[in-house]
Amino acid sequence: MLWTEDYHIHTKRCKHATGEPEAYVEQAIRLGLKEIAFTDHIPLPNGFDRAHRMDLNELDDYVNDVLNLQKRYSEIRIRLGIEADFIDGFESFLQKTLTDYPFEIIILSVHFLAHWPKGQWVFKYDFPDKTIYEIYSEYLQAVKRGIEMGLFNVLGHLDLIKRPGASLLKHNEAEVRDVLMAAKAKNMAVEINTSGLRKAIGETYPHLSFLPLIAEYGIAVTLGSDAHAPHQVGFEFEKVAKEVRKVKGLKRAMF
Ligand SMILES: [Zn+2]
Ligand SMILES: [Zn+2]
Repeated sequence: MLWTEDYHIHTKRCKHATGEPEAYVEQAIRLGLKEIAFTDHIPLPNGFDRAHRMDLNELDDYVNDVLNLQKRYSEIRIRLGIEADFIDGFESFLQKTLTDYPFEIIILSVHFLAHWPKGQWVFKYDFPDKTIYEIYSEYLQAVKRGIEMGLFNVLGHLDLIKRPGASLLKHNEAEVRDVLMAAKAKNMAVEINTSGLRKAIGETYPHLSFLPLIAEYGIAVTLGSDAHAPHQVGFEFEKVAKEVRKVKGLKRAMF
């Protein structure tokens, strides 16, 4: 294994992942991973997007499940993490929830913006009256506001908003640089999320062309499979780790 940590793994509490948490751990051990982080979707206030995440009253159980797994498996290090959506208006909720628990890996993810119609996700939202530049700009600015809260240590799937053939680096390089600079200032790592390789887009998030830029800012990277099923743990890590290793000066994040 060229890369031994998978820092982005879900559990069935999010209602769209399958398999027992033990099956994810055992798959990671089989692959030779040394560390994994469970980073399930954070619950949000007022049942927001409750179809894709645990309820707030399950958060204690989620945390306890992961802490118990840590005790049960000595052959792999299991980190307690969370994938936390930044959404304007939920700042005080995030501030409280993310500091109330001993999370080690806190992934900043933007899946939707506060002013988008209900139920619209970044993957499918159609913006007929906006240019690609405007869409990407709105997205990157939300990411930056999230970073500036200072609550997160990993920047998740940075270019999740991308449309096929329309790189954020091509359309909004200055804003991508702003985001990276902000992430560096908060000592965050950037995640290379391999889930895009099993979707229609067929690329990592962010695209591998971001790697030299990430290195240029002295930012370290994590790999995350975003596994929603046990067999997805470590998904395409060999292939992606090879590319990461080719980039001079690019560091692996340590937590
Ligand atoms: Zn998910
Ligand atoms: Zn995820």
